[in-house]
Amino acid sequence: MKASNWARTAIGGVLVVVIVHATVAVGGRAAEVPPQDLERIRSATPSEPAARVAKPRKVLVFSRADGFVHDSIPWGAAAVRILGEKTGAYAAVLSDDLVMFDREPLAQFDAVVMNNNCGNPIVDPRRRANLIEFVRSGRGLVGIHCAAHLDWPEYTDMLGGYSIDHPWNAGSTVTVKLEEPGHPLLRGVATSSFPHTDEIFIFDHFSRDRVRILLSIDTEKTDMSKPGVKRARGNFPLSWTRAYGKGRVFYSAFGHQKDVYWRPNILQHYLAGIQFALGDLDETPKKIETPRKWEKP
Ligand SMILES: [Zn+2]
Repeated sequence: MKASNWARTAIGGVLVVVIVHATVAVGGRAAEVPPQDLERIRSATPSEPAARVAKPRKVLVFSRADGFVHDSIPWGAAAVRILGEKTGAYAAVLSDDLVMFDREPLAQFDAVVMNNNCGNPIVDPRRRANLIEFVRSGRGLVGIHCAAHLDWPEYTDMLGGYSIDHPWNAGSTVTVKLEEPGHPLLRGVATSSFPHTDEIFIFDHFSRDRVRILLSIDTEKTDMSKPGVKRARGNFPLSWTRAYGKGRVFYSAFGHQKDVYWRPNILQHYLAGIQFALGDLDETPKKIETPRKWEKP
């Protein structure tokens, strides 16, 4: 290779690195996470992975939103990046570039983290089909907060729910219940119900039978008199896992507020959830209730 070609390649390489590590441009503006907040995230991040890392893993953190743009998006992206860096669980590529959903760029990843992408961030039907196929064929999908509010029915079906409202606005405190104490994705998160301050979603296009709920609102210890709560039809999940084809899905409703991303228990939950989606962390098979015998009336 000629020296000039080499120089161009090297410069190209540098440019790629710069683009990947640039602040996430959201809705046409770029937001910087201040160094003190990066430090808060770093110190709240576990130092060990939640499970043994079977092989080097690569995660796409996609942060484009269309519609309501959460201020916390760059904080979420930084948290997912730092979780991977500090624990060695995976390497994260942060992007809001739709080209990432073309077949070839997407193929390099083991999982996609959808970071607070309200609205309609992926429109091209080929790119939509690529993401669906990516998960169906055995890779991972992680959804954070508004990632459950995409105008895309097949995606909602894959994720397992659609956020319809937030009866508890930002700054509200709810009590969170462990649906399966001892579940590997709850290790280090809590051993019993705990308070969580955030904007809290309710869902439709959701069925308890189609997902494995890990955390939900403790309705006994939370103010359930908020307007709109009835729309949830008695379902108050806050995080879940599910299988989709050969792939794995993890969703967490936490993450409207920036400070959520430096809470140690939430970061532990995200780390385990991402490693679950990557295939490094297994859960025991869900207990299936024995069907009741048919009884004569
Ligand atoms: Zn929100």
